[in-house]
Amino acid sequence: MSRDSGQERRGRSYERPSREMFTVTCADCGKETQVPFKPDGVRPVYCRECYQKRRPKRSYQSRE
Ligand SMILES: [Zn+2]
Repeated sequence: MSRDSGQERRGRSYERPSREMFTVTCADCGKETQVPFKPDGVRPVYCRECYQKRRPKRSYQSRE
Protein backbone atom coordinates (compact mmCIF):
# COMPACT_ATOMS: atom_id res chain seq x y z
CA MET A 1 0.00 0.00 0.00
CA SER A 2 1.35 3.28 -0.94
CA ARG A 3 0.13 6.33 0.66
CA ASP A 4 0.37 9.43 -1.38
CA SER A 5 -0.53 11.82 1.26
CA GLY A 6 1.87 14.60 1.91
CA GLN A 7 2.64 15.15 -1.69
CA GLU A 8 0.47 18.11 -1.92
CA ARG A 9 2.27 20.34 0.40
CA ARG A 10 1.86 23.56 -1.35
CA GLY A 11 0.66 22.49 -4.72
CA ARG A 12 0.36 25.53 -6.77
CA SER A 13 -1.74 27.63 -4.60
CA TYR A 14 -0.19 30.77 -5.72
CA GLU A 15 -3.32 32.59 -5.04
CA ARG A 16 -2.42 35.26 -2.74
CA PRO A 17 -4.96 38.00 -2.57
CA SER A 18 -3.60 40.26 -5.19
CA ARG A 19 -4.36 43.86 -4.87
CA GLU A 20 -6.97 45.23 -7.06
CA MET A 21 -5.65 47.72 -9.52
CA PHE A 22 -7.55 50.63 -10.85
CA THR A 23 -6.94 52.13 -14.19
CA VAL A 24 -6.74 55.86 -14.07
CA THR A 25 -5.53 58.66 -16.22
CA CYS A 26 -2.51 60.48 -15.03
CA ALA A 27 -3.39 64.02 -14.13
CA ASP A 28 -0.08 65.22 -15.36
CA CYS A 29 0.88 63.51 -18.59
CA GLY A 30 -2.50 62.04 -19.40
CA LYS A 31 -1.24 58.52 -19.73
CA GLU A 32 -3.24 55.63 -18.52
CA THR A 33 -1.83 53.99 -15.52
CA GLN A 34 -2.84 51.66 -12.78
CA VAL A 35 -2.87 52.37 -9.14
CA PRO A 36 -3.41 50.03 -6.25
CA PHE A 37 -5.96 52.24 -4.65
CA LYS A 38 -9.28 53.50 -5.65
CA PRO A 39 -9.14 57.03 -6.88
CA ASP A 40 -11.62 59.16 -5.05
CA GLY A 41 -12.16 61.39 -8.00
CA VAL A 42 -11.18 64.42 -6.04
CA ARG A 43 -7.47 64.23 -5.89
CA PRO A 44 -5.45 63.98 -9.02
CA VAL A 45 -3.81 60.67 -9.66
CA TYR A 46 -0.45 60.41 -11.27
CA CYS A 47 1.37 57.69 -13.04
CA ARG A 48 4.49 56.36 -11.54
CA GLU A 49 6.79 58.62 -13.39
CA CYS A 50 4.93 61.75 -12.63
CA TYR A 51 4.43 60.67 -9.10
CA GLN A 52 8.13 60.35 -8.64
CA LYS A 53 8.79 63.55 -10.43
CA ARG A 54 6.63 65.29 -7.96
CA ARG A 55 8.24 63.61 -5.06
CA PRO A 56 11.84 64.56 -4.84
CA LYS A 57 14.06 61.93 -3.45
CA ARG A 58 14.99 62.24 0.09
CA SER A 59 18.11 60.26 -0.06
CA TYR A 60 20.10 63.37 0.10
CA GLN A 61 20.51 64.44 3.62
CA SER A 62 22.97 67.09 4.34
CA ARG A 63 24.17 66.79 7.83
CA GLU A 64 25.97 69.99 8.06
ZN1 LIG B 1 2.08 60.85 -15.77
